[in-house]
Amino acid sequence: MNDDCLFCKIAAHHVPATIVRDDGDVLAIRDINPQAPTHILVLPREHVESAAHLTAEHERLWGRILTVAQEIARDEGIEAAGYRLVSNVGRAGGQTVAHLHVHLLGGRQMTWPPG
Ligand code: 5GP
Ligand code: ZN
Repeated sequence: MNDDCLFCKIAAHHVPATIVRDDGDVLAIRDINPQAPTHILVLPREHVESAAHLTAEHERLWGRILTVAQEIARDEGIEAAGYRLVSNVGRAGGQTVAHLHVHLLGGRQMTWPPG
């Protein structure tokens, strides 16, 4: 755990969040500022800064993150219509919380390109 990291604190239940899934290794929380009817963040409990910091040892964990995202999309009823998975990396990528997370957005029509 990184004591300065918001998502590490959420994973440790030191900061409250609406947790929709916790399988030990992977956590899913509702975004505090939702940009779509469904806006969930899927993240590892382990502090990994971003997708750029994943190593070969994380391959199983990364796969698990995507599996959890897929399962939640099904639970949220947005699977058939489609949804967006996105992970911002670094400053220019728009990342504001330096703990790897995948945004799961759905329940409305997404547009492209994103801002
Ligand atoms: P990023 O900008 O790093 O890709 O995404 C960070 C996300 O975390 C943003 O969508 C933001 O709304 C969300 N967020 C920031 N602080 C909190 C918080 O305290 N709780 C929750 N649940 N989400 C947060
Ligand atoms: Zn962290």
